[in-house]
Amino acid sequence: MKIAIFPGSFDPITVGHESIIRRALPLFDKIVIAIGVNSSKQYMFSLEDRIGGLIKCFENEPKIEIDHYTGLTVDYCRKKNASFILRGLRVAADFEFERNIALMNQAMHPDIESIFLISEPKYSAITSSVVRDIIRNNGDIKQFVPSSFKLK
Ligand code: ADP
Repeated sequence: MKIAIFPGSFDPITVGHESIIRRALPLFDKIVIAIGVNSSKQYMFSLEDRIGGLIKCFENEPKIEIDHYTGLTVDYCRKKNASFILRGLRVAADFEFERNIALMNQAMHPDIESIFLISEPKYSAITSSVVRDIIRNNGDIKQFVPSSFKLK
């Protein structure tokens, strides 16, 4: 069984995340969307709300599981029997950042492969941090988040 982990903060989920996950579905038997919980990071949305947003977005997709984890992504992969880490690449800066993480993960667990999908151009400027800024300033985020997404 080909299992991939799609790790991220999803604070909040964007149409960019959604697109990468849907495009990757034919490649794997299962994709676990896993929220990495970092106790030293401040989030805008609670873990429960971020999990809820992911569940709503993918509720009709049997190949997707939603979960959260602490610790190293590679250790979590082992626990879930996943051989692949899926990430999206928007711009060159993403590549530099992701390559570093992928090389470190490879050094620790050579049996786990990182797989990258290039973002669709229309999504390449969308980041969760800009979406958070728009929310803080009472702007309309509708076009940047999945249609099922609801601000409480
Ligand atoms: P992290 O905190 O780990 O960066 P994010 O939730 O911001 O988590 O992102 C998770 C993954 O989704 C990363 O691989 C990131 O590159 C990818 N991603 C984020 N936004 C987009 C987008 N607009 N298009 C494609 N990939 C994206």
